[in-house]
Amino acid sequence: MQDLELTILGSSSAIPVGNRSPTAQFLTLSGRHFLIDCGEGTQVKLRQHNIGFGRINHIFISHLHGDHFYGLVPLLTSLHLLDREKEMHLYGPEDLEQAVKAMLDLSGARLRFPLIFHHTSPNSKKRIFEDEALKVYSFPLKHSMPCCGFLFEEKPRPRNMRKDKLEEYNIPVAEIRSIKKGANWENENGEEIANEELTTAAPDPLSYAFCTDTAPVKDLDQYFQNPDLLYHEATFTEELKKRAKQTQHSTAQQAASIAHLVKARHLLLGHFSVRFNDLTPLQEEAAAVFKNSYLALEGHTFRLNRKSKELEINA
Ligand SMILES: [Zn+2]
Ligand SMILES: [Zn+2]
Repeated sequence: MQDLELTILGSSSAIPVGNRSPTAQFLTLSGRHFLIDCGEGTQVKLRQHNIGFGRINHIFISHLHGDHFYGLVPLLTSLHLLDREKEMHLYGPEDLEQAVKAMLDLSGARLRFPLIFHHTSPNSKKRIFEDEALKVYSFPLKHSMPCCGFLFEEKPRPRNMRKDKLEEYNIPVAEIRSIKKGANWENENGEEIANEELTTAAPDPLSYAFCTDTAPVKDLDQYFQNPDLLYHEATFTEELKKRAKQTQHSTAQQAASIAHLVKARHLLLGHFSVRFNDLTPLQEEAAAVFKNSYLALEGHTFRLNRKSKELEINA
């Protein structure tokens, strides 16, 4: 089964600098693809990283500050020009619908594919996507305008049937489903065969939590716990703590404290302020509090190994 894979398309705060673009990420989980935030230039970044536009069917927008969604309408327009007909699902604040429709209307664009809007809730956790493999929730963050984080959570999988046992006990196909769910099996002699003998454990479900832009949410653990991977904004270092508070952002140290709070396995820092040419101080500040802290550098792909739970970084 595929690992969790996250490609950083942009991790700068409001003003892009040099090799840093505004927020966008491409997530693959359970074989599904998700675009998270869509700052200016996202479609160019997708092209640069050879991520086909056609793979994107679900786009999640945290909030309506420009550095998180100004790349959306251009991407939708390109998809139209590429003859897309399949519907596109957009998840975000209620006003996203109005903003996207107004921009398309005013530029005279009539997309040949339907847009399906799903509203996040600014005040409570909300399930916004579900299929047989995973669920996605939005949850409120603390910012200067309504803003939500997203939790991508795989569902527990049924146990794996052992083929040798299937043959050994001559188990009818109709019984496999309930055995995979944990049932024991009674053979023709009336003997009960324990499920542990018939099956092997399914791989652990993985989860990814995305938190930008936000001041530290002191009770974030009420929305989720134990994410395998947590992305948390770290716009500033502690030196600029006051500025972080004023602008409803976080410092690297605060991001690390949040990683502890929610018992994350790995922490990715992002949404870096334009003030930092060198991002090392942000990483060091976080790592002093939470060891597994990494910089979400543009162009890097983070792969979470399903078995070892190690984070591999492909630069
Ligand atoms: Zn931002
Ligand atoms: Zn913002």
